[in-house]
Order: sequence, then C-alpha cells, then structure tokens
Amino acid sequence: MKYKPVIGLEVHADLKTKTKMFCDSLNDPDEKHPNINICPVCMGHPGTLPVTNYEAVKKVIMAGLALNCKIAGDTFFERKNYFYPDLPKGYQITQYQKPLCEGGWLDIKGDPSASSGLKRIRITRIHLEEDAGRLQHLPGEDYSLVDYNRAGVPLMELVTEPDFETGLEVKKFAEELQLILKYLGVSDADMEKGLMRVEVNISLMDNSRSTIDYKPVFGTKVEIKNLNSTKAASDSVDYEIKRQTELLEAKEKVVQETRGWDDSKKVTISQRSKEEAHDYRYFPEPDLPPLKFTSAQIQAIGEGVLELPQARRERFRRQYNLPDHDVEVFTVNKSLGDYFEHVVSELLSFDKFSHLEKPPENENPKLLKLAANYLITNFNRMVENVSAEPEDTKVTPEMFARLIMFIFHAQISSTVAVGVLGEMFETGTPPDKIIEIKGLTQISSISELQQSVDKVIANNGQAVEDYKKGKEASLKFLIGMVMRESDGKANPQMVEEILKQKLK
Ligand code: ADP
Ligand code: MG
Repeated sequence: MKYKPVIGLEVHADLKTKTKMFCDSLNDPDEKHPNINICPVCMGHPGTLPVTNYEAVKKVIMAGLALNCKIAGDTFFERKNYFYPDLPKGYQITQYQKPLCEGGWLDIKGDPSASSGLKRIRITRIHLEEDAGRLQHLPGEDYSLVDYNRAGVPLMELVTEPDFETGLEVKKFAEELQLILKYLGVSDADMEKGLMRVEVNISLMDNSRSTIDYKPVFGTKVEIKNLNSTKAASDSVDYEIKRQTELLEAKEKVVQETRGWDDSKKVTISQRSKEEAHDYRYFPEPDLPPLKFTSAQIQAIGEGVLELPQARRERFRRQYNLPDHDVEVFTVNKSLGDYFEHVVSELLSFDKFSHLEKPPENENPKLLKLAANYLITNFNRMVENVSAEPEDTKVTPEMFARLIMFIFHAQISSTVAVGVLGEMFETGTPPDKIIEIKGLTQISSISELQQSVDKVIANNGQAVEDYKKGKEASLKFLIGMVMRESDGKANPQMVEEILKQKLK
C-alpha cells in the first residue's frame, strides 16, 4: 500500500470512586436527577478549596501499573484555563507537564491484514483530571441545560503513541483496555453510558517519501470525536482511511480538523477545522499539595493489581484445557468464569457425590468441557434473561456440578438436563430431587428402548421408507420421534443404534 495509516488514541474514562475528585459530592453515574450531586467546591464558588481524593489517585496508579507504565513519585496538578458553561470554575484541574504514568504498553492480538501475532501499542501517558458537566441542547430551543452531577468527577486520560494501522486494531485495544479497567475496578468503562470516550487521531503516511535521514514524513492528521462504541471507533477509522486515500490519490490535501462520527450514515463529518493552538495558560494548582509517593507506596498499590485478563486467558487455557472460544467467554464475562471455577472445584472434590461413580482422572478434561458447554450456552442465557450475576442465582455451583455429573454418566439426556436446569434456576431445587421426583433418569434399558423404537417405526411408515431409500435426515426424524415418545428420557445414542439395526 502506498499510504500507511498512522493512528493514535486519546481515551478518557470516568473513575469508579465513591466521591468526586476534589470534594465529597457523590460520584454516581446512574443518578438521573440533574444537579443533585453538587456542592460549593465542584460548583466553583469563591473561597472554596479542593481536597485530593486519594482513592482516585490510587486507581490511576493501578491502571498505570497494569499497563506497564513508569509511575511518577513526585508530580502535581495544574490549572487549564478556559471558559465553557460545563465548567463553573473557569478552569479544569488536570495534569500537564508531569503525568502520573508514562511510557507503558499494551499487547493486543494483531489485525492479520497489518501484522501477525501480537502487536504492541505504546502508551505515552496517563494522567488524572476532573470531568466537566453535561450540556443538553434541546432541539428547537434557543437555550441549553447543564447538569453538573458529572462536574468534578475523577477522570483519567490515556494517550497512545500513533501505533495503530487499522480499525480492527483500534477496536481490539479499546476492548482490552475496557476489560482491564473493569478487572481493576478502576472504571466501569461503558462507552454507551459515556463512562469511556475514545478519540481517534488519524493520518496517512506516504511510504514513498522520507527525509534524508530516513525519518518518516507524517501526513496531516484528523481527529475523530463522538464515538459511542468500539465498533464505531473501528468503523470511523476504516472510513477515514478510505476518505483520506481518495483525497491524496486525487492530489488533494487532507485538512487538519476535528470530525464527528455519524453512526447512522457511517461517515465522518467535518465539525471544526483546527484553530491555532489554544492558550490554556497552564500553571501549577496553588490550592493543592504536590502528589508524592515512595516506591514502597507504589509497590503496595501494585499488590492490589490482581490477575489481569491476559493472564487469566493463559491460566484458563493451561489449567482447564479449554478451547479459545470458551476461554474468551470466561475472560470477558468474568463472573461466569468465576462461577465456572467454583463448579470445577466442586466437580474435582468428587467424594461428595457418593451415589455417582467418580470418573477416572483422564476423563476430567471431558467433564470440565461439559460443564463449560452448559454454562456458556444454557445457564448464561437464563442468567442474562433476569440480568443477574451467576453467583446470585438460586443455582449454587455445587448443584450445578451435580447436574453435570448426571449428564456425564448419561443418567439424563441433554434435553432433560436443560429442563432440569431451568427448574433449578426457578426454584432452587437440587437436581437430584427434581430427577427423582419426576423419574427423569435416562432410559438405557435395551428392551424398553426397543419397544419405543418399534412403536415409532410402526407409526411412521413414510419416514422409514425414505430412510431405506437413503434419506439420512429421516433417521434424525425417527430418533426425534423416539425421544418425544420417551419424554426426552431415551438415550439418543442407543436409540440411533437400535433404529439402524432394525432398519437394515
Ligand atoms: P496534539 O498536540 O495535536 O494534541 P499529540 O502529539 O498530543 O497531538 O497527540 C495526540 C494523539 O495523536 C496521540 O494519540 C498521538 O499518538 C496521535 N498522533 C500524533 N501524531 C499523529 C499523526 N501524524 N497521525 C496520527 N496520529 C497522530
Ligand atoms: Mg495533545
């Protein structure tokens, strides 16, 4: 390709803290009532003084450590002066000269169209600042409303080096960052709710040009805002690459500007061309002490960084032998993965299932995969339908493990198993009880099965004939009929065998 895309991100994430950055007003992103979590400090009343929320500082340091950054032991806040109605003080308290975190990286799974294997995205800096209020522009009205609940909420800003080349890479990075922030409890990082905002900077580099000392010549960059999902970020990049390529190929110039993403039309639209650099008159915040940490303090914060998503993927693969798809579900859906681990520990402490035979150790991978299947396909759907967490449902990991043992020993069919799980979910009754009361154990007695098969053959002459003529689907139909005849209790493998025998 003649033009190489050069892409860097700026990501903002509202931190998950009890109170705001410099006062004790609540930080509640779900508060619907406007202008209720405010106080004289975050409303910028004269004579008030800010006080640093160290919970927020600690969270940014945790994010920095998780992203392999160097943490500044000695830094400070600065004032960024500008006037806008969402910011009652007339300035934002932020960090400018010396961010809390610098020089990190995050490895993402590369986009096969641009690179193979893992791709390292360098992180320039992460700093801590305060968020502004939300403006609401009412269609057709000549005024706007402001909600200051978000004014003063702790906000982290992360800037990457321009290391991305495709929309997919941007999406992968944003998703992995979201996951890391959620794992750390640093931010809920929900883009739809505006808790994480991604801005894309993108330019095209003419590969055929370079300076005398082979330094790359960057093209003019465009900034894209208003991206409300990782998909939108990825789509906007792909669109911009196309738009800028077409301009350059037509010997036209890319204008340096800010563009917005129209998610319904899937296009970027010019919002404003970059005026000359703002003069924000940054200066160190005189009302706050500098931020100082010893390396022992930073190390102690690092001890709060538990297992991160990538480490979990590797552990799940190694420890449970699961395929990539299952590992990914249990990583992204962390609570389901945690539940799986509880089920596994129940399954492997098998002595408690006294009435069921313990499978030989080399059968364990099969047992665990069975548990994963029922969790991912059936249980997860039930949990999501009632928007609960797996651990909060009536199905304890122990009950779930018992159900898996019944299935593993072919004592109940998969059809019955799904029904039993549904009932466990509704009522909290242990599977043993449900199966016993309803007499649901799988029918594996040959004579009993043969009777059902004979009946089905007698009543379905057409399908029998079709099968004999070579129509394989008819066999499936006949198996289905036997299953129905037995209320799902027949052992389907045995039914198939018997049918094949009889229809030879
Ligand atoms: P600005 O001063 O315009 O804010 P910065 O140097 O602070 O620019 O970079 C902001 C973001 O733009 C960073 O994510 C960076 O990686 C990215 N960036 C810098 N130069 C380019 C470029 N030529 N093309 C695309 N992105 C770039
Ligand atoms: Mg900048």
